[in-house]
Amino acid sequence: MTKFSDLKLDPKVLSAIADAGYETPTPIQAGAIPHALDGKDVLGIAQTGTGKTASFTLPMITLLSKGRARARMPRSLVLCPTRELAAQVAENFDTYAKNTKLTKALLIGGVSFSEQDKLIDRGVDVLIATPGRLLDHFERGKLLLTGVQIMVVDEADRMLDMGFIPDIERIFQLTPFTRQTLFFSATMAPEIERITNTFLHAPARIEVARQATTSETITQKLVQITPPRRDQAAKAKRELLRALIQAEGESCTNAIIFCNRKSDVDIVAKSLKTHGFNAAPIHGDLEQSQRMKTLDAFREGGLQLLVASDVAARGLDIPAVSHVFNYDLPSHAEDYVHRIGRTGRAGRKGAAFSIATPSDDKYLNAIEALVKMEIPRAETPEGFSLSEAAHREPRQYDDAKGGRAKSRSPRGGRGRGERREAPVVEEKALEVVAEAVAEAPKREERREERRDERREERREERRDDRRERGGRGRDGGGPTVVGMGDHVPDFLLRSFRTTRPSIATATDNDSESDAPAEDSSES
Ligand code: AMP
Repeated sequence: MTKFSDLKLDPKVLSAIADAGYETPTPIQAGAIPHALDGKDVLGIAQTGTGKTASFTLPMITLLSKGRARARMPRSLVLCPTRELAAQVAENFDTYAKNTKLTKALLIGGVSFSEQDKLIDRGVDVLIATPGRLLDHFERGKLLLTGVQIMVVDEADRMLDMGFIPDIERIFQLTPFTRQTLFFSATMAPEIERITNTFLHAPARIEVARQATTSETITQKLVQITPPRRDQAAKAKRELLRALIQAEGESCTNAIIFCNRKSDVDIVAKSLKTHGFNAAPIHGDLEQSQRMKTLDAFREGGLQLLVASDVAARGLDIPAVSHVFNYDLPSHAEDYVHRIGRTGRAGRKGAAFSIATPSDDKYLNAIEALVKMEIPRAETPEGFSLSEAAHREPRQYDDAKGGRAKSRSPRGGRGRGERREAPVVEEKALEVVAEAVAEAPKREERREERRDERREERREERRDDRRERGGRGRDGGGPTVVGMGDHVPDFLLRSFRTTRPSIATATDNDSESDAPAEDSSES
């Protein structure tokens, strides 16, 4: 078995790794690091959780240890699709480079340009950025990419999902042809293949086993319930979720609870809070600062239950999660593997509970076909029974004072002025909303929602970036963006001499219709 000491890494890096407690390189590290150290391009096909961040960070630190950065000319560049992932890479860099004098800057939206400018002005060895923010700095003339010796693209398939591929192509073109490229993607969609064929030179291809198998350190359980009424399925699931968490007692130190829809993420988080649990939601509609705050609280142990959508949780490395709960079974079987892989990491034990109702049968079949095993069935926790309310028709509830109904039943339910009976106002209001969103959980509808979520995430990134860019040549930092604002789409910058097919490609990529790309990346 390869040891870290076999890998010709800088001794300073080796001692940092030892301090981090790593004993042996993971397969992606053992495969990628020697090629990267030889100066070759690397195409790594690996997911988060495989140790891929260190597989590019460790050789980068080793290679960059000789030489010095010049003002505004970073020596290396790491591109990440989201701010959270970029921040995570920056943290990893700090860990592994702690014994060196290498400098880094993190360029992400939501942080003031001037702070970032100062860092770049001083000269940095490693620049970690999201594509939009990086191009903004470049367009403001604050950054030169001609000194980039090593360029890393992390989570390329997610870049594709988020519509960043035109930006990535542009950034490739702004860096020297002689650069070394380390390119990572969990899947090789045709569009990703095209990019690697265009911008990588004879790359060493390292593919680590796709996570179609689940880790043996994770105890999986499937709890099936048949809600007495279809229109009360959401309520029944929330009751069961609470019972499952409670039954796990102190062994559940922290957990991620996955829902398929953003609306359910909010509802479940709110419901748990109402019942006295320490829970908070995370999904693409929340403000970036809120998301960061929630994640930090979860990482630091101040928050026990993180209720999440797949998109928000994808790629996040939260090392010690004792439990994962699937409030919904995912409609994409691979998401099951990703979700439960949030626990039982780095050899730790973990538990994954999934709630299923009869309408989930087709999802369950697909998951079990993928993981090639039957998920062990478990009984509902001892003494668990659904509340009486879960057996009744959802009703319209008045406010606590017995006044008019606060919200109208989406199915026309009851008339106004009716009295509420249940004690928890919020929980009842949640039920009415839950009933609305639980309507027709058809596969196509769910897919559409996931697409919307990704589009929205993308828009949010751009919106934030534009907001901050307002100061440039305008009235000083306001959110005003007229027309395209300062963002000139990549295809407009291309020469008219470009051949027709490539114009078509660029335009397609810039458009909002990312649905086919998303499908292919997830297939
Ligand atoms: P990544 O796939 O880069 O997100 O890494 C997943 C997790 O594995 C992170 O928490 C790393 O700190 C950890 N890790 C990376 N390499 C190793 C290793 N060789 N041994 C043990 N843990 C590791």
